[in-house]
Parts: sequence; C-alpha cells; structure tokens
Amino acid sequence: MNLSLTDEDLDIQARARGFVEELIPYEAEAELNGGRLPEDALERGRKMVAELGFEAINMPKELGGGGFSALQQVLVQEQVGRVTNALAWLIHTPAQWLPKVATQYQTERWVLPTIRGELRECYAITEEVAGSDVDAIQATARREGDEYVLNGEKWHVTSFNHAEYLFFQAKLSNGPHAGDHAMFIMDVDTPGIRVVRVPEYSHTIDHQHPILAFEDVRLPATHLIGAEGDGMQFAYEWFRYERLMIAARCCGAMDRLIGEATGFAKERIVRGQPLMDFQAIQFMLADSLNELWASRLMTYRTAQEIDGGVDVKMQHAHCSMAKLFVSEAAGHVADRCVQIFGGRGYMRENVAERFFRELRVERIWEGTSEIQRIIIADQLRKRGVEPLVG
Ligand SMILES: Cc1cc2nc3c(=O)[nH]c(=O)nc-3n(C[C@H](O)[C@H](O)[C@H](O)COP(=O)(O)OP(=O)(O)OC[C@H]3O[C@@H](n4cnc5c(N)ncnc54)[C@H](O)[C@@H]3O)c2cc1C
Repeated sequence: MNLSLTDEDLDIQARARGFVEELIPYEAEAELNGGRLPEDALERGRKMVAELGFEAINMPKELGGGGFSALQQVLVQEQVGRVTNALAWLIHTPAQWLPKVATQYQTERWVLPTIRGELRECYAITEEVAGSDVDAIQATARREGDEYVLNGEKWHVTSFNHAEYLFFQAKLSNGPHAGDHAMFIMDVDTPGIRVVRVPEYSHTIDHQHPILAFEDVRLPATHLIGAEGDGMQFAYEWFRYERLMIAARCCGAMDRLIGEATGFAKERIVRGQPLMDFQAIQFMLADSLNELWASRLMTYRTAQEIDGGVDVKMQHAHCSMAKLFVSEAAGHVADRCVQIFGGRGYMRENVAERFFRELRVERIWEGTSEIQRIIIADQLRKRGVEPLVG
C-alpha cells in the first residue's frame, strides 16, 4: 500500500522497520526480565538510533533535531508499535512544544542536550484526584521573591527512572494569576522530590510510573516555562501530538498481530485442516484487517493534514478521532488474535498475550476513550458533520 509516500518517506519507514526487526527477537526474554534488554542489545540499539538519525526526530532541524514531518513521525512510530515491551522506546521523542517557548537558559540547559540524546524528560501532571479533568489538580506553586515553592503529589510519572528532568504542572496560589496553571521544568534530583512508591502495572516495560511527592520544592523563577497561566496550553499541545502517535503505534501493533496470527492460522492443523480454512477464524482476521486499513487511513490522513497546515482546532478533533478509533480497534484485534492462538495466546511468550495487556492502556493514557468522545462531540456540536469528515 502506498499512501502518497515519497521516496524519502519510504526510506524512513524501511529504516525504522529494520531497527524494530532487530529488537523483536528480544521480546520474550525482556518480558521475563522486567522489560529490560540485555546490556549488549541495549548498547547496539542506542547506537543504531543515533546512526539512523532517529534521535529527537520531532525536534526542529535548526536545533539539531530530525525535523521530520508529522507523516514521517507517524511512519517511524508505527514501526515502534510493532515491538512489545516498549523495546523500541529507544527512539526518544522529546517535548516538541518546548523549543518555541523555552528561554535561552532553558534551551541551553535542557532542550539542546535532550536533542543531542544526553537527557530525557518525564511528565508530572496527573494526580490521585485529577486525571481526565486536569483542571482539578491540587498541586500548588507559590511565588516568593525570585523563587517558586512547589507542593503536590503526582501519579503515574512515566519514565521517571530514565529521566534527568521533569515537567511539573501546578496551580498558582498567589499573585495576579492565582488559580491559573503554570508549567515548571526541573532536574529529577531537585531537593524536595520524593518517590512515594513505584506501583506495578499490567505491562512489563522498563519504564516505571512512580507516585512522586513534591514537598516545598524551591525553584528559581527561571524554571517557569512560558508565562504564568500558560500551563494548560502546553499540556494540550503534548496531548494532541501524543494522541496521533498512539494511533500510529497501535497501527503497527495491529499490523504485527494480524501478520503473526495469519501465519499461525495457515500452519496450525486442526481436524486435518489449517485453521485458516475455518470461516470463524477467517472472519476474525478479515475484521481485524479492515480495522487496520481504516486506522491507517485515519492516522496518515491526520498527519498529512497537520503537515498541510490545517488549523489547530481541526488537528485537535482529528487527533482525538484517530486516537479513539485506532486504540479501540487495536484492542479488538489483540483480543481476536489471542483467541486465534488458543492456549498459546495466553502464554507470556506469545506476542498476542503481551499486546493484549500492553494495548489496554492506549485507551486510557493521554485522555481516555470517554474523554476523546467528549472532545469529538464538542467539535461536532460546534462545526457540524461536513468539516469534520468531508
Ligand atoms: C501506564 C500509565 C502511564 C501514565 N503516564 C503518565 C505520565 O507520564 N504523566 C502524567 O501526568 N500522567 C500519566 N498517566 C495518567 C493518565 O493520563 C490518566 O490515567 C488518564 O488521563 C485518566 O485519568 P484517571 O486515571 O485519573 O482516570 P479518571 O479521570 O478517574 O477516570 C476514571 C473513569 O471515568 C471516566 N471519566 C472521567 N471523566 C469523565 C467524563 N467527564 N465523562 C465520562 N467519563 C468520564 C474515564 O474515562 C475513566 O473511564 C498515566 C497513566 C497510566 C495508566
């Protein structure tokens, strides 16, 4: 299938595919080893990312990033999604919203080293009582002279164990913007940050999601990103980007699942016939393939629109539509593929079993399916049918 991809796009896609093919043989071992790659494979993987030019593909070229188009990023992320246990997260995509709002100081201290692959970040936004409704956060930022004093507890801080710095969203508790959101950047070893606990999750990946306490964390005002009151805007920009990339990774997962399950169905003989001859199995694969086709069209088209400069509100709507449809479709496909593999599909060494667990979170993080539906319905109310699907 060639969805108007240029030679450059196809080359990027092929290189990303080659990278992922190197990682796939390590999945089952990683599954039994907390999601970790053996040290030599990890080193080789990191080297490959650098050689392939896949470090910071979403960051501006003039700052040393890859400057990939949205479609090219989707092509890479789709391949990343083909491998389980987040092994392909070696391809790191930093905060793409940051360079245009970072000060000179922030650019030199965090943005440029991140683009060079020296630093990694994580996000501390969600709280025990504030997930879907980010506006309900209770973390506070109090201005005291040239400093801010931060307090709060953050949940599910993904990749904290691999990060050198983090973004922290809080509500201002004093000053002219009291009650508004603000975003801060700080190193993970800033005094006052404490790991409360590190819960276990369904997937087996080497990225933890700890609960963190921020207790009277003092930061110079230079660590405020943008202006007081801007905090939500950055979170929304990140959500929009990640929703599309989730859709891309889910396309990759579906592609892999359907390929593996079809291969199995052709080989496995039951009552003297390959499974593939039974209509019950054929129908599950046919439905899965159809969902992958629709998913890929939505995802690529949304990326092409972004590259074409469509307005931000339309991007917002279409990223939500893609995330909702594709993450739900990936869940259906994983479920069917477990069924096709039978008992083997329930074994952790089986790709369908791992995807069955791993894909579940795609309907939860970066806005649950319910939140995506709310966004889509809101756009429908405001714009009508044609602008959204015409
Ligand atoms: C593995 C993992 C990693 C994560 N990583 C990060 C991270 O790095 N940084 C970070 O800040 N956060 C992170 N999150 C948090 C994630 O974004 C939230 O879990 C998600 O937004 C949902 O919020 P919640 O868990 O508080 O659910 P809740 O908001 O409590 O929702 C519970 C249920 O109610 C539904 N619901 C809520 N509001 C409505 C409504 N208005 N209408 C209908 N239904 C509604 C939801 O859809 C859901 O089904 C992560 C979560 C997970 C599971």
